[in-house]
Parts: sequence; structure tokens; C-alpha cells
Amino acid sequence: MLSRRSFIKKCTSALIAINCSGLLFQASTSSGGSNRQIPVLAYHRVGYTPDNLTVTPERFANDLEHLQERGYCSISLEEFQKFIDGRSMDLPDKPVLITFDDGYLDNFQNAYPILRKYGMVGTFFVITDMLWAKERLTPEHIVEMAQGGMSFGSHTVTHRALAELDQPSIYDELVNSKAVLESVLGKQVNAIAYPRGSYNEAVVEVAESLGYLTGFTVKEGICIKRSPEFELRRIPIFKYDSGVINVIANRGHLV
Ligand SMILES: [Zn+2]
Repeated sequence: MLSRRSFIKKCTSALIAINCSGLLFQASTSSGGSNRQIPVLAYHRVGYTPDNLTVTPERFANDLEHLQERGYCSISLEEFQKFIDGRSMDLPDKPVLITFDDGYLDNFQNAYPILRKYGMVGTFFVITDMLWAKERLTPEHIVEMAQGGMSFGSHTVTHRALAELDQPSIYDELVNSKAVLESVLGKQVNAIAYPRGSYNEAVVEVAESLGYLTGFTVKEGICIKRSPEFELRRIPIFKYDSGVINVIANRGHLV
């Protein structure tokens, strides 16, 4: 049986440990957890806007409840990156990475409190040119969320399709968004979600040269230890989806 101390090490905070307490007897003691399959959920907005990429707060809460009922435990971006890197670490039996693209204000107003209520953590990919724009996250929101255990990554400066840009423009998008977020957070930012899922070899090369460790696409699939670091697959979540567990089953296939 796991001691409380070693269990807490498996999650990012004591809060999560308490909320994942149902997993105490399921959590594996095998070192590394290297055979895990990790679904990476890709949300956008949590609110009441009428587009397909917005889920209501009620639906989002429902998704988190169902994930917990099925024994999923959310992990931080750093824990996910250690897993992909092959660095030894313990993971919960059923880890999940919950991501959000585009940095909308409703991520702070709606998603963040619901994540906290369920003792779960999320990873937010932010467009840095939009940081002071209407309806978007501000640096103050980001700092507060980071203090609450949330992770952040780049979604570039302007949200242009990277594969359509020349090399200097790709460089600007990646280096400047990273620098802005690092100055807001006071720590390294080394993950990117490609806007519109657009990337190519040149994008990956620039990302690697700048010290990014992981790049997330919008290709459907599930992540395993051998997944290519800069072509990570996610499971997109849409308004019309019937339930997150079904979505993981249908879109979280191994490729
Ligand atoms: Zn986007």
C-alpha cells in the first residue's frame, strides 16, 4: 500500500491528493509508469458562446466528474513532459492532461474554479499578443492560476498557421511568445500548441533550437512514452460531444 507521502508525490499538490484519494488503492507502485497511455484533452472555451469549441460550465464539471469516477487523475504539464522525455517518475494509474487553447478569459472565470473544485489541474496555451485583449486572460490571471497549480505554454504571438510562415517569422512567433510568458511566470516555458494544428519540419527545428521540449498538434490520438515530442496528439473536445469518456474511447486511439 502507498504511504500518504508517496501518494502525494504522484499528484501535483496536496489538494489533488485529497481529491484523488479514491485512487489510493488503485495507484500502481511500479516505478516509472512508462507503459501508460495518456489522453491529452484539448478544450477551448468554457462558457455560453454558441460555437462548437465552447462547452458550458455544467458540461465541463460533468466531464471532470466522469473522469474522476473512472479513476483518471489530472497531471501537470511538467509531469507529462517528464513522462514523454523518459525521465523516471511515478504516475497515477490513469493520468490525463487537460489542455485549453487560445487563452480566453472564461478559462479563468469558469474552467479554473471548476478544476479547483475537483482538485484537478489544467494546462493553458496562450496567444501572447492577446494578453491584454477583451475577453482574454491577462498576466494577472495567469500568475494567479499558476499559483493555483495550473501550467502554461505558448500558442504563439499572433495565432498564425506556422507551416505557412517563413523561417524568421516562425522564429519570432516562438521566441517572443516564450519570452513574454517566461517574464509573466518567472519560470521557463517550454511547450507549444501549434495554432490551427499547423506545423512542419522547419517549425519543429526552430522549436527545438529555442529550448521547447514538447509540441502539441490537433491530430487525434493518445500519447505514449514513444510519442514524438513535437507531434503530440490530443483529443479535441467539442460542444456536441456526448461525454468525455466516450470521446476518449472514440478519439484516443493509438497510432
Ligand atoms: Zn488556437
